[in-house]
Amino acid sequence: MAQRARKAKPKARKPARKARHKAGRKTPRLLGLVWVTAGALTVAVLSLAAVLLFGPAARDDPPPQIATAPLPAMTRPPEPALRPPPATPPARPEVAAVPPPAVAPMLAWLRNAVPVSVAPGQPMIAVVIDDMGLDRVRSERVAALPPPLTLAYLTYARNLNDQTSAARATGHELLVHIPMEPGSDLDPGPNALLTDLSGDELRRRIDWSLSQFTKFIGVNNHMGSKATSSRPAMAAVMTELRDRGLLFLDSRTSGATVAQSEAKKQGIPALSRDVFLDHDPSPIAVRAALDQVEEIARRRGHAIAIGHPKDATIEALAEWLPDVQARGFALVPVSAVALRLAAGIERAKN
Ligand SMILES: [Zn+2]
Repeated sequence: MAQRARKAKPKARKPARKARHKAGRKTPRLLGLVWVTAGALTVAVLSLAAVLLFGPAARDDPPPQIATAPLPAMTRPPEPALRPPPATPPARPEVAAVPPPAVAPMLAWLRNAVPVSVAPGQPMIAVVIDDMGLDRVRSERVAALPPPLTLAYLTYARNLNDQTSAARATGHELLVHIPMEPGSDLDPGPNALLTDLSGDELRRRIDWSLSQFTKFIGVNNHMGSKATSSRPAMAAVMTELRDRGLLFLDSRTSGATVAQSEAKKQGIPALSRDVFLDHDPSPIAVRAALDQVEEIARRRGHAIAIGHPKDATIEALAEWLPDVQARGFALVPVSAVALRLAAGIERAKN
């Protein structure tokens, strides 16, 4: 009897141990399922927010690489304007250095953005130097300035791949500086966007312009008083930029520009130059222009300056850049301003 009882006991306990074992494994599985579901929901919400904000993924985007900015996008949206911030709260710091992982092709301007970290509320200054690439000596001096600057290379400069990859490696952000029709007799350069071109020729020239180098976040206009005042020309530009996931910086060579309103129609980030640093290329005038940039940034939260590869500009920047952070400003690439505006974080209008 005693032997039978001892034999029976293990038989009875065996199913109980199995049941406990099974129950023990169910909990982590359930947790895993919850995490996966929560993760998928988060990704879906972020992706939807990015789609609503910025438009479709770049047409020719390669698969996503290391994420450099926070907002992925997956599909072509119903052409929204740049909208108020998504329901999700802004990250801390507000321009995140380490964004969430990309799960779909990321917009080209986000993928090519130079990541920076900015404290909430810190006034931001973006310094753009355009007309880059023709004057090799001065362009190299500009590219040797402390980053991050945003450097806009002319489409018809030579050795653009070498020049732009060196600038990118130094920590600068890149724009394509596309020649556009001026309001005067000045020659804007080869393959300029002219208002009397057919839609097909405009698209061909835009396509050519965007094929001269890589890793840029968008476009700003070289000259272009007439072209940026033309709705058909700007609509053609902004449609191409939307399809490629790029942004537009209006150099504002004309008060009658419609570039920003056409960009917003296409749902792409549109920015605008606040101050030209070197209309008067004397050291005193450039220094005064930099003071004006600081004043705008302090008052509004951000300022975008545009200068050129001129001696006075390079020398003034070489003095001004090293302690701009110490004066409380964040020196940022243009993409950081676009991100802050997209998130709707701004102190006041203009
Ligand atoms: Zn220019």
